[in-house]
Amino acid sequence: MSWLRDVEFRGMVMYRRDYSERDLLVQILTDRFGPKMFLVRGAKKRGFKMTSAILPFTEAEYIGRINSDGLSYLTTTKSTKMWRHISSDLVLQAYASYLLTLTAAAFPEGNPVGRAYDLIQTALERMDDQADAQLLTNLVEVKLLGEFGVAPYLQGCVICQRNDLPLDYSEALGGLLCQNHWDRDPYRLHARPKAVALLQRLAVWQPQQIGQVQLSDLTRRELQRILDHIYTDQVGLKLKSKVFLDELTSNSNRLKK
Ligand SMILES: [Zn+2]
Repeated sequence: MSWLRDVEFRGMVMYRRDYSERDLLVQILTDRFGPKMFLVRGAKKRGFKMTSAILPFTEAEYIGRINSDGLSYLTTTKSTKMWRHISSDLVLQAYASYLLTLTAAAFPEGNPVGRAYDLIQTALERMDDQADAQLLTNLVEVKLLGEFGVAPYLQGCVICQRNDLPLDYSEALGGLLCQNHWDRDPYRLHARPKAVALLQRLAVWQPQQIGQVQLSDLTRRELQRILDHIYTDQVGLKLKSKVFLDELTSNSNRLKK
C-alpha cells in the first residue's frame, strides 16, 4: 500500500455515513484521486472544526493523507462552499447525487478526474443558481460518454454527414441518421428531431450556457429517453442514484398535473 501525506486536493462531498459513535465515513469525489473514502475521526463531536467541509453538497479544498488502498484521512480544509439551494431541495439533491455518482463511475478510484471535475463543479454551481437541472444533467451525460468508451457520432448523419435534414439516433450505428438513411436501421429510436437537435447542441455547449430554459415536456422526455437508451444499452450502466432520480422526477411531474 502506498500513501501520500499532506497533499492538497479539491473535492465534492458525495455521501457520508456513520462509522462509529464519534466518527464518520465520507466519500469525496476528488480532482486528483477520483472518488475516495475518508475516515473522519471525531466528526460527530460538537465543535468539530471541519464540520462545514464534510456536509453533503459541499465543495472544498482539503489537505489530507491519501492511501492507495483502504481509507484516507483529512487533516484540514481551506476554502469551503456549500450549495445551499441544492441542499434544501430534494429533487436537486437527487440530480446532484446522480451527477456525482455518474462521474465516480467514469473515473475509477485513484485516477485523476481531469477536466470533468470542473465540468461537474460548474454544472452543480449552475444548478444551485437555479439553472435548468435536467438540461445540465443531460449535458454532463453527453460529455461523459467518451469517458465510458462510448463516443456516438453527433455532428450529423453517420452515413452522409448531412446535418440539414431531420435526424434520429441509431444505437446500431453509434450515432445520428438523417431522414434519407433511416432505412439503414429499423430499430432507430424514432426520436423527435427537435430532441435530437438539442442533444447535438448539448454536446458542444458548456454548463455556463445553460440558464432557465423553456422546453415542452415532450422534448424533455424524448431527450432523456435517447440518453437513457445510450447509457443502458451502450454504456451498460444503471446507477441506483439514477433509478431514484427517475422515480422522484416522474412523481413530481405527476403531482404537477
Ligand atoms: Zn444521411
